[in-house]
Amino acid sequence: MKKIAILGSTGSIGTQTLEVIKAHPDKFQVEVMTAGNNADLLIEQALQFKPNCVVIGNESLYDKVFEALDAKDIKVYAGEEALSQVVQMDSIDMVLTALVGYAGLLPTIKAIEAKKNIALANKETMVVAGELVTQLAQENDVNIYPVDSEHSAIFQCLIGEFHNPIEKLILTASGGPFKGMSRKDLIEVTREQALKHPNWDMGAKITIDSATMMNKGLEVIEAKWLFGVALDKIEVVVHPQSIIHSLVQFEDSSMKAQMGLPDMRVPIQFALSYPERIKTDFPRFNFSDNPALTFEQPDMETFRNLSLAYTAIESGGNKPCILNAANEIAVDAFLKDQIGFLEISDVIESSLEKVSYIRTPELQDFVETDKETRIRALEEIK
Ligand code: NDP
Repeated sequence: MKKIAILGSTGSIGTQTLEVIKAHPDKFQVEVMTAGNNADLLIEQALQFKPNCVVIGNESLYDKVFEALDAKDIKVYAGEEALSQVVQMDSIDMVLTALVGYAGLLPTIKAIEAKKNIALANKETMVVAGELVTQLAQENDVNIYPVDSEHSAIFQCLIGEFHNPIEKLILTASGGPFKGMSRKDLIEVTREQALKHPNWDMGAKITIDSATMMNKGLEVIEAKWLFGVALDKIEVVVHPQSIIHSLVQFEDSSMKAQMGLPDMRVPIQFALSYPERIKTDFPRFNFSDNPALTFEQPDMETFRNLSLAYTAIESGGNKPCILNAANEIAVDAFLKDQIGFLEISDVIESSLEKVSYIRTPELQDFVETDKETRIRALEEIK
């Protein structure tokens, strides 16, 4: 029985993780659940899964959650600090990080220091501090299992190949709802249009990141650190059907791809159950429904966020941290109708130029860079 802490149980990945766990009560048990603001759903989930404890991020909701769960023998904590503390509990075997954004960084670091294996959905952790996090994982003998479908695909392609050098990693991208549009077309696109992803049903932030192609930029950085591969060996190809989830090319020219219908429960379950594959009743791919799988080059001039992400990781240091914080602020402003779609890249570009560069940042430098960038990006938006 593997005991799991789910950071962000009320989100898109969190709720799908609970579906996987519910289907296999003989294999997995929920030990910890956490939410940000959605106290009602957290209470409902806790009553159903009976974890040891829950954390509600928003401290003003503590009383409500406490009143609902205390009598059921479920411990209740609140606030950011509590997140970093509960992941260290002795009883936890694995921490699944499904918080969105920078908020995932510190709890993930604390979990690694407490020698918990990680199922990583929160890609922003790797974007902000990939070098530091992978180094900590090595020092603490911790495995980081990817949940992101592209990275899970690569991981699956690498099984049995760990001794063979990688020639190239190829990350597939759907291209999002605005694939094929020009910059002129993008001036007027709305939040509602951007939130309609053609293939995946995800949280709001990653859905906007997919529309701007920033998601693929973040994934390139995540892949660099997870698989220890140089940037010039990571390519992006647009594959609108989202059936091939990513590929690895080896030095003999052979390419391995992992494919299947777009369903996040598959990589979530694999991260929890590795090395075992557990039988599921998820829908299966069939060739007659998907006769054409197509591929094209990404349009990095129209979707500037992808090239900004490459620039940030090429510069290294705290630049990816700046990229991430500016993107979080810009996406939030776009979701609140404060800026237009194309202005998201403007805010990021200007933050990358203005925030102080640190070549070899330590953890505290990331904390400060994140703060400084958010202030500057907000000034840009006003
Ligand atoms: P959601 O927005 O759906 O969920 C985010 C979760 O984190 C919620 O439980 C939310 O709580 C909680 N949360 C957010 N901010 C805070 C905070 N400051 N403190 C504590 N809790 C917080 O996001 P997704 O599930 O879509 O994405 C989660 C992560 O997984 C992201 O990093 C994303 O990039 C990655 N990912 C997602 C995929 C997907 O299909 N959704 C695919 C691949 C990767 P509440 O709702 O209660 O406020």
